[in-house]
Amino acid sequence: MTSSSRPLLNRRLAEFGTTIFAEMSALALKTGSINLGQGFPDTDGPEEIREAAVRALRDGRGNQYPPGPGVPELRTAIAAHQERRYGLSYDPDAEVLVTAGATEAIAAALLALVEPGDEVVALEPYYDSYAACIAMAGGTRVPVTLRPHDGSFRLDLDELRAAVTDRTRLLLINTPHNPTGTVLTREELAAVAELAVERDLLVITDEVYEHLVFDAAEHIPLVSFPGMRERTVSIGSAGKTFSFTGWKVGWVTAAAPLVTAVRSAKQFLTYVASGPFQYAVAEALALPDSYFDAFRADMLAKRDVLAAGLTEAGFEVFRPAGTYFITTDIRPLGPDLSQNGDGFAFCRALPELAGVVAIPNAVFYDHRDEGAPFVRFAFCKRVGVLEEAVGRLKKLAG
Ligand SMILES: *Cc1c(COP(=O)(O)O)cnc(C)c1O
Repeated sequence: MTSSSRPLLNRRLAEFGTTIFAEMSALALKTGSINLGQGFPDTDGPEEIREAAVRALRDGRGNQYPPGPGVPELRTAIAAHQERRYGLSYDPDAEVLVTAGATEAIAAALLALVEPGDEVVALEPYYDSYAACIAMAGGTRVPVTLRPHDGSFRLDLDELRAAVTDRTRLLLINTPHNPTGTVLTREELAAVAELAVERDLLVITDEVYEHLVFDAAEHIPLVSFPGMRERTVSIGSAGKTFSFTGWKVGWVTAAAPLVTAVRSAKQFLTYVASGPFQYAVAEALALPDSYFDAFRADMLAKRDVLAAGLTEAGFEVFRPAGTYFITTDIRPLGPDLSQNGDGFAFCRALPELAGVVAIPNAVFYDHRDEGAPFVRFAFCKRVGVLEEAVGRLKKLAG
């Protein structure tokens, strides 16, 4: 405390003091619980890509500051990936920017594009860094709530339209969506794009789960819709796709003026990051389709193990069409076990009750009441670990 007893943490960040992840991970440790809270895999990505990082490090590639926009090999690989997967063409020199994970890309884009007082419309529940970064940029977040409908969380397009005002600067869209597992459909994306064009909005799309879509779902980049190329900042990351979340290699692809703007903020955040890993990720992006197919199939099998187990244990399961998270409704467990449908209380009790850690979705909402009964489990864990967690949860229902 200073003598003036003014709070140390500034007003913009006051509401983001501590995260639920710290509390829950501490609980997991204390109780010896299986941690299905935070979303990182418990096995590393492809051995040859790990070796590529070792090689880069040994060969002295990336051990000193790499170029500000990212190493040319990686920028070329990112552009080639966008072309190969989606038929999108980007100039690796002017339209691609490498960042310290998607997290920095999101922060830099918001800091660069938002003027204090601007409104930013984001889907709720939202990834936790969005709210903090909008606040740091001096913007005002305007959440549009995804609500359960026929077994999945859906966007209400009328509500989205109504959320846009004269002060709205940009839409922040995340699909495949964490934590709900929703993948926006072609029709929904077309409507979002139409709105953005009609109201002349910028759009940031967080596509870190682009390779994790299941069943009939398809990931379609929002930038591919008419009128979107010049207004969309698309964000990707190697962390989720290649199971190297600690490497923190992400990227922005966008029209040159947008990349220039985002780079202006990015250069004063980290300047550059992850030198040797950039070379390894360049190789990862060029892996054959068989890698991406096998990765998706593996995660799909894990999803099915956890979804079936949670259903048997008495949860209502919203089967995700993408990402590696399952959102559940705890109310079918009954008022006692579900703590009257209070996800916070439930997640605080669960480690003691069952030896499993999960995250209350309410932390991802401004409208906390809307998110109260929902709880998120991560399934990016070994099948044996998921089976053990499921066994423990089934005992709950007795
Ligand atoms: C994990 C995650 C990120 C952060 O990605 P990094 O590359 O690790 O910074 C961003 N957005 C969403 C939706 C995520 O789940």
